[in-house]
Order: sequence, then C-alpha cells, then structure tokens
Amino acid sequence: LSQLFRPLDLLGTVYRTVRQGVIDMGAMFDLLDVEAEVVDAPGAQDLAVRDGAVRFEDVRFGYDPDRLILKGIDLDVPAGGTLAVVGPSGAGKSTLARLMYRFYDPTGGRITIDGQDIATVRQASLRAAIGIVPQDTVLFNETIGYNVAYGRKGASADEIHRAASGAAIADFVATLPDGYDTRVGERGLKLSGGEKQRVAIARTLLKNPPILILDEATSALDSRTEAEIQETLERIERGRTTIVIAHRLSTVVHADRIVVLDAGRVVERGTHAELLRRGGIYAEMWARQQAEREEVLAAE
Ligand code: ATP
Repeated sequence: LSQLFRPLDLLGTVYRTVRQGVIDMGAMFDLLDVEAEVVDAPGAQDLAVRDGAVRFEDVRFGYDPDRLILKGIDLDVPAGGTLAVVGPSGAGKSTLARLMYRFYDPTGGRITIDGQDIATVRQASLRAAIGIVPQDTVLFNETIGYNVAYGRKGASADEIHRAASGAAIADFVATLPDGYDTRVGERGLKLSGGEKQRVAIARTLLKNPPILILDEATSALDSRTEAEIQETLERIERGRTTIVIAHRLSTVVHADRIVVLDAGRVVERGTHAELLRRGGIYAEMWARQQAEREEVLAAE
C-alpha cells in the first residue's frame, strides 16, 4: 500500500512547493529526481571540461515539432570569452540558454563543450559545469543562507559569507537582525528584484562553474541598481566562458562578440561599434533603447 501512496506524497510536496511560489526549474527537477524532456544515453560519460569552449553547430529546435524556434544557429564562444546574444522579444534567446542547460535537446545540429556533444554526456556533469543567473530568480521559502548555499550543498558559513560578499549582498544581510538566518519569501522578508538577482549571483559564485549563462532580467531595475549588478556580473565573468542573454543593449556595449538573433536565426554579428556602423537591426534597437533610457533618466 505504501507503494501506492509514495507518488501521492511526492505530488503533495510538489504541489505545496509550487503553491508557495518559491521554486525554480532546477529545484523542481531535483525535487522530482527526474529530468524534464531529456534522459542520459545508456553508458553516457561525464563531461570533461578542459577550458570550457562552447560551440553551437547548426542548432535547430522547436518546442512544438511544427514550429521551429531556432532555425540553424552557429555560435562559437572561445574558452573564457563572452558572447552576448541580443534580439527582439521572442527571437529565441532564452531558448538557447535552455538548450545549453539541456532542459531540451536540439532537434538538429549539436552543442559542444570542449568538443563533446552535450547530448551525449551525463546531465548531472553538464549542469555541474554551468552556472545560470536566470531572468527571474525564484527563491525558496527558507533562510537567505539556505538560498545562497543552494549553489553548493554543504557549503560552510564562511563560504556562504564570501559568496555573498562577492555578489555585493553581504552588507545588506548584515543590516538584518537575523542575518543569514532571515527567512525570505512568503513568511519572511520580501527581497527586491535586484536583491534576488544578487542571491542568484552568490549561489553561482559558490558553485564556481567554468561556464556561465546570464539571462538578464527583463523587469526593469532602476538604473543605479542595474549599473551595480552589471559591475558585479562583469567581475564574475572573468576567466569563465560566458553567454549573456541581453534584453537591454546597455549591458553588451563592451562585449567582444555580439550576435543578433531574429526569428530563430543569427542575422548580425560583430562588436557594438561594428554593428552600429552596419545600420541594421542592432543599430535600430540601440537608437530606440537610447531614446527610452533618456526618458527614464529624466523621470528618475
Ligand atoms: P524575450 O526577449 O521576450 O525573453 P526570447 O528571445 O528570449 O524573448 P524565447 O523565450 O526563447 O524568446 O522564446 C522564443 C519563442 O519560443 C517564443 O515565440 C515563445 O513563445 C516560444 N516558447 C518559449 N518557451 C516555450 C515553451 N515552453 N513552449 C512553447 N513555446 C515556447
């Protein structure tokens, strides 16, 4: 009989957690101990990261087989380099990040890390090598310390503190009467968008992965917070292969490689200056965002 109730129990746990609104996708998979769409191939080996070079080779993908979202993407991010992906809403930018983390497998082409097709390696080893700072970090209804430590279970108090310092949230935590034991979420402290993102950055610092995916928040932060977070992110990018999914162009001006995605294809590539000279989609997006930014700055 207990066999019968176990799935029900599990469902209850999932339901309660989802109801609290404090779950992220990775945690959901951990909780269920199942993988979303993909399974390890029999005899799959662990990914061996040497220096973390990432390549997309003619990657095709659709959530629905009848509607391709990515229509043959080629990308090359050398070890330790940064690639910024920009483009209109719905172009497929976040989908690239989901494929990298293997929430789904491409329907055509392949993604490699140091020459190894990520579809052939053990998912746990792939996910251990990649840190994601997602668009909207959803925190557990737990303490700040727990939420940071989620980056690496079993981290010491000292390591948690150092990660929080690196993410520039330690000073904020120090102002709370219960410090790292302060509960966040429904029954505790409400964190702002910027603070939540810093918790996600601290988690990533603790995980210390060779490859980073930064999926920039779409929700607008005020320009000072945005600049501060940007500075923190630039610091953690050093020495790691980084893919930045940028929804605002102000954060990619200094990227050495920018690709513009439109309707599932790479339509432009280059540096900020090259893309402006080209006078294409990027230049158009830049002009529009500059105008919007001036309005916001005038209002602040
Ligand atoms: P934005 O800048 O608005 O975040 P994006 O470029 O990141 O957009 P994606 O989130 O990658 O775009 O979405 C690309 C397309 O895939 C969109 O048309 C979207 O509706 C569709 N899509 C995204 N997620 C799913 C899903 N889980 N199931 C079905 N379609 C999806």
